[in-house]
Amino acid sequence: RIPAEAELNGFFADDYLLSADAHSVFLHWIVPLAIISMVVLALMFVINQRLQKIVYQKTRDANEAREKAERYLAILDRHTCVMRVDRELKVQYISIAFCELTGYESHQLLGEPHTILMDESNNGLKIRQLLEATSAGKNWQGEIHVKQKNGGQLVMDVFVEPVQDGKGKVLGYSAVYLDMTQKKNAELLSITDTLTNLYNRNKIDALLVKESKLVNRGSPVFSIILLDIDHFKLINDQYGHLMGDQVLREIARCLKHNIRETDYVGRWGGEEFMVICANTSLMGAEALAEMLRAKMEEAEFPEHIHATSSFGVAEYFPGESIDSLIKRADEGLYWAKNSGRNCVRTRPCH
Ligand code: GH3
Ligand code: MG
Ligand code: MG
Repeated sequence: RIPAEAELNGFFADDYLLSADAHSVFLHWIVPLAIISMVVLALMFVINQRLQKIVYQKTRDANEAREKAERYLAILDRHTCVMRVDRELKVQYISIAFCELTGYESHQLLGEPHTILMDESNNGLKIRQLLEATSAGKNWQGEIHVKQKNGGQLVMDVFVEPVQDGKGKVLGYSAVYLDMTQKKNAELLSITDTLTNLYNRNKIDALLVKESKLVNRGSPVFSIILLDIDHFKLINDQYGHLMGDQVLREIARCLKHNIRETDYVGRWGGEEFMVICANTSLMGAEALAEMLRAKMEEAEFPEHIHATSSFGVAEYFPGESIDSLIKRADEGLYWAKNSGRNCVRTRPCH
């Protein structure tokens, strides 16, 4: 408060404040300014309240979203097999589920080359294709054999994606693995003969249908070889059924080792086997049958057992049924048995 007697150059403050000029300045400026200030303050208060509310809501939403994402990530971590490797293909991250499946602790894998989980049985060409595709920035999908810590092997479907920076430079790779081991084993079991480990009759039937369809669409012909062990009953009678089983297994191994990569061999039933020779004419199949016959004649099984086999060969004619093809091979085999066994025969075409 200015004292009433305050004076500046003979000008008394009290007089001035009570003067008409001061009154008008007060009315024209101070009051509107005060009102405007109060309105602005009120507005700012309201805006501030609104902003605070928005910020609070946004923060709460962001926290909720982060927690939700973390929950999902934790679920993925526990239940899916995921691995990330850097540019040098060293493990950067591996999910809990993948560690549990492979039997490792995560610290045993982090920083290690990805090959620590690659089984030696993987096809080298496939691995090269995987590396070529991903280093070129492309995705890759395929089947990989994963090696467990205890030496076990898993069959897994893998989806690999390169991780790139904004300019497309590859920083590393992310991969999701699906365990197909049980499914593959079940599939394998359904097509395998349990005694010999060769294809079973069902699989051979399916392969015959597949090959005949290929020929009927214009592919080169295929042929079949049907073989039956000679006097096998005598082996069983003389050495026992278990030794008979052993001989069947060894003959199966001998057949598998001596056919070509493109051929299929299966147990047709009892002591009979069938070889399907893809892209092979009668002449080629007869030559293969003769080679197999000689191998079997040479082979010596436990307890110095020797066993020979008789062979019937037939070539598929486009359009004919599978039954008719098998019948011709069977007739060849019957003829071989009647010709003194341990020989290859083809039923002459009429
Ligand atoms: P052939 O030269 O005329 O073919 O004479 P074979 O004695 O081989 O033929 P046969 O049909 O008289 O007998 C087949 C034998 O094969 C009888 C059967 O017990 C035996 N056999 C079939 N399946 C199995 C098997 O899984 N294990 C064993 N150990 N023997 C089997
Ligand atoms: Mg038989
Ligand atoms: Mg026999």
